Amino acid sequence: MSEQQGKGRRSFLIGAGGVAAAAGAWLIGDRLGAGTGAEAQEALSPEAIRKAALSKYKTLGKTGLKISKVGIGTASTTSPAVLDRAIDLGMNYVDTAHMYGNGESEKAVGKVMKARRKEVVLTTKFSPRARTKAELTRSLDESLTRLQCDHVDCVLVHAVEEVDRIDNAEVFEVFEAARKAGKVSHLGFSGHGPKLQEVLERGIALGRYELVLIKFSFMDYPRLAPLLDKMHEKGIGVTAMKTRDGARHVDLEKFQRGDGFVGATLRWASTHPRVASAVLTMKTFDDADLFSKIAGQELAARDVEMLEQYAALNDKVQCRWCGDCGPACPSEVKVWDVDRAAMYYGRYGEERRGMELYASMGNPAQACVGCSAPCESACAYQIPIRAQMIEADGVLGWRPPDLPIDPATAPPNEGIVRGGDGGEGEGAEGGMADRGGRRAPFPWSGVLKG
Ligand code: SF4
Ligand code: SF4
Repeated sequence: MSEQQGKGRRSFLIGAGGVAAAAGAWLIGDRLGAGTGAEAQEALSPEAIRKAALSKYKTLGKTGLKISKVGIGTASTTSPAVLDRAIDLGMNYVDTAHMYGNGESEKAVGKVMKARRKEVVLTTKFSPRARTKAELTRSLDESLTRLQCDHVDCVLVHAVEEVDRIDNAEVFEVFEAARKAGKVSHLGFSGHGPKLQEVLERGIALGRYELVLIKFSFMDYPRLAPLLDKMHEKGIGVTAMKTRDGARHVDLEKFQRGDGFVGATLRWASTHPRVASAVLTMKTFDDADLFSKIAGQELAARDVEMLEQYAALNDKVQCRWCGDCGPACPSEVKVWDVDRAAMYYGRYGEERRGMELYASMGNPAQACVGCSAPCESACAYQIPIRAQMIEADGVLGWRPPDLPIDPATAPPNEGIVRGGDGGEGEGAEGGMADRGGRRAPFPWSGVLKG
């Protein structure tokens, strides 16, 4: 176990002393409201909530853009009406991508942008498949067409797993040409893979990127704190995704009371001094209403207590996507990606997305059956990798007769969902929405309930 991991395992909320000092003495206790913030807002009218949310903007680094603390994620959104509602409620940061829903998410956003473009800060992403100048240019132009506008505020290099994706002269050339043509103003990148720290280091050093969208949660914070400080110094704006750290609360009733775990994680991320906006997918009106209400709230003591409980319960269950087990696996199973697919399937309630992502990898966890699991001794968190992988394969590898998935044409890395799910944000809770009436067990529910 590395020293950094050792620290990270039990200091998930406040970070080590040095980290806190470097972050401007940021400690969770300093940020606590009176412990009644959530309750106090319950009695407010919708209009009062909207005004409160509207007052809660932050500046997105040196872009100078003022964006809402909670951003409108569109990864699983195909409803223009839900997007309209989110904007009505005061959220003004819209994050979409070329590949979300095979373009369906951008089309939904476009229907709203037609009338409301000036009300929002709009970000899209290059297709992860686009590497050459021609491909990158085509990707951005297709996005603009679907978005029904001639300008987006920001474009991100999507789902960066290796530094060469951002250290790429063709990206800079295409961006500069598009900027001069008035198609886009700011360049950034997104990432959530095992090399996120390395990618961020390189992105900072390159000096070409103005914003990032990263996996960021209360359990990730200590590991990323020094990089967050560096980005702050350089004026790189940070937006956060996957803030629920595995979203295992869906199996645990005590984390679902009131706005529960979702509220606690969102208050934690959206009020973090190094985060401009926590981006959450808004699939439903209820999501939009809930998230807008939370957007204006301070972190409360009971939130911290809940996050501590969740972290303690999941410390040896939740894969951190660190990648340390990778070199130990003779079959090159990317455990972190299988875990992500299982998370989409079982905890985001997005079966199709999880299955498509797993299929795109070639059902790798089949190799875990009969393996002696050398990976497990490489995991500092003592995750029962083999058991989790076998369970995930059993669920994700299932194919309904009407859902043929061809691994050769399935999307790379990120799931593309043709029925409305996909992308990087997260809704309020897992659900049955896209389960087609078939209830499958959540992966690893037995582990958690035991
Ligand atoms: S149990 Fe699975 S992930 Fe672990 S080493 Fe074996 S094949 Fe690789
Ligand atoms: S199983 Fe452990 S070592 Fe492997 S990616 Fe997850 S947390 Fe890291």
